[in-house]
Amino acid sequence: MDKISRRRIKKPAHRLRLTLYGFFSALITLTVVLLTLILLAKPSLFSNISASTPTIKSNLTNITLETPSPKPTPTAIPTAKPTPKPLLIPQSYGRSVHLPILYYHYIGNNPNPADKARDSLSITPDRFTEEMKYLSENGYHTVTYPELYAALKGQGGLPSKPVMLSFDDGYIDFYINAFPILRQYNLKSVAFIPTGKAGSGFYLHWDQIKEMDSTGLVDFEAHSVDHVNLQSLSQDKLVFQLVESKKRLELELGHPVKFMAYPYGSSDERVWEAVKKAGYLSAVGTWSSNIHSEGQIYDLPRIRMGGAVSLEQFKQKVQ
Ligand SMILES: [Zn+2]
Repeated sequence: MDKISRRRIKKPAHRLRLTLYGFFSALITLTVVLLTLILLAKPSLFSNISASTPTIKSNLTNITLETPSPKPTPTAIPTAKPTPKPLLIPQSYGRSVHLPILYYHYIGNNPNPADKARDSLSITPDRFTEEMKYLSENGYHTVTYPELYAALKGQGGLPSKPVMLSFDDGYIDFYINAFPILRQYNLKSVAFIPTGKAGSGFYLHWDQIKEMDSTGLVDFEAHSVDHVNLQSLSQDKLVFQLVESKKRLELELGHPVKFMAYPYGSSDERVWEAVKKAGYLSAVGTWSSNIHSEGQIYDLPRIRMGGAVSLEQFKQKVQ
């Protein structure tokens, strides 16, 4: 093959390279022009990318700036604890009487909606008024604890349609909401006071207790010193809770205190024995019945009341 022939063969490859070069040059130029046009038309496209960082930062700042609202101190609102079932119900023997002993806790709206247990233990003053009005207008007679004790011991009888109204824990709403209603309908009641809590926070003050005691409508009895589960205590601590609460109430009121209610309704044979030794004549628990017997005198049953009980149910319970 001569030189001319070789050139002729090479010529088409040379042309192809030139065409490819031209094509890529045009493509790059076109891309540059397009990008420039886009940038000119929408400069915010790029500025948005850099601006997004401060937005996130400002969001974070907002989160940290949100100062948490001050939480109420745990002691500010007493917490209602669910009542555990008593482990032991005393045997029924001896004389027995029929008497619904109703027990209430809070007479007012639940000030701590997070505390769900308290909902069932709270009754509004309006609903409480309906219940007391029903008792008053339907021939019911309110009985005191000494009257119940006398009946169980055969030393006296109970009136017709008897009912006992009891209030646990000595919350201040008893004085503010319940007492005016009880006085309006002239109904007697018993209030069980944890003496170590009285006079502080949402609990009754001693002058309020004394004022109500002087009317003769409310009988104040013991409910331990610190509202503790008595079954769980050592013997020394158990005796302290029983003896000191009785002493304190007698000192403040100036008359004997002979009855008590178990915190959380919790008691057993050891507790009953200690209660008797401490000088109490009888105590109430939270197991449910309308029938009381001498054999159960250190753990008498009561009927739980609260916002969950309708007026119709209330009428059934007091029968
Ligand atoms: Zn209690």
